[in-house]
Amino acid sequence: MFLKGKTAIVTGSTSGIGLAYAKALAAEGAAVMINGFGDAQAIETERANLAAISGTEARYSAADMSKPEEIAAMVHDCAESLGGPDIVISNAGIQYVSPVDEFPVEKWDAIIAINLSSTFHLMRAAIPHMKTRKWGRIISTASAHSLVASPNKSAYVAAKHGIAGLTKTVALETAPHGITVNCISPGYVWTPLVENQIPDTMRTRGLTREQVVNDVLLAAQPTKQFVQPEQVAALALFLCRDEAAQITGANLSMDGGWTAA
Ligand code: NAD
Repeated sequence: MFLKGKTAIVTGSTSGIGLAYAKALAAEGAAVMINGFGDAQAIETERANLAAISGTEARYSAADMSKPEEIAAMVHDCAESLGGPDIVISNAGIQYVSPVDEFPVEKWDAIIAINLSSTFHLMRAAIPHMKTRKWGRIISTASAHSLVASPNKSAYVAAKHGIAGLTKTVALETAPHGITVNCISPGYVWTPLVENQIPDTMRTRGLTREQVVNDVLLAAQPTKQFVQPEQVAALALFLCRDEAAQITGANLSMDGGWTAA
């Protein structure tokens, strides 16, 4: 339990990769603040489960990652109730698939706000707390789409490339304060985010569901396998270790070889 006494905020942790991060951090003894949308009873069950796993407190924040003032309030709430935050993982994300000339402007704005701007606001609110403790770990879930593009994903690709640039810049600013800043770039992970975009990909590219899964998603990854949420979480956990203190400003790929190809 190397994170005993530390606190962590994971945005977008009511499902998928974010929930795997929260479980991994709690299993090492961190007090975790989870966040995201979903069924209230299911979220409360998850919160109680995280508290039990960690042997300390766990809290839930309903903050909307498209609202800067709610992000600041979430960080303040963590500092007041749990302490820290020592670790923040910016993970909330949404996706929309459409050719750029038909891309709804409100979808563009929402994707940039929830995927990219929320990462800036989270860093901005958390770094002062980390500076006073001279220790911090900032991790963001970018994507293989922070390195390469796919058609009809203009906003998502732009947001994820933005996270990679933001990560490098803030790493330089915070390096003297014992704070590391990195992003993880998974390939395709089977989560609601990926499942929900299948009908749009079928429509925009004229493919069957099976063709989208095999010829688009799995075809991108030389391993021909989906990445598992727990594999992404294990990498984040390593970034929290003292052994990872010299890893900062990195964009770490976990994409079954996708971007190497
Ligand atoms: P998911 O849909 O399972 O999880 C998304 C989470 O974000 C949920 O908890 C949801 O409630 C939350 N969320 C959405 N809008 C929010 C908002 N406005 N405020 C607060 N929370 C909000 O999807 P996932 O695949 O686990 O995605 C997590 C992250 O991983 C995203 O940033 C995504 O871009 C990234 N990612 C996913 C894949 C993949 O293949 N699934 C690949 C690379 C990167």
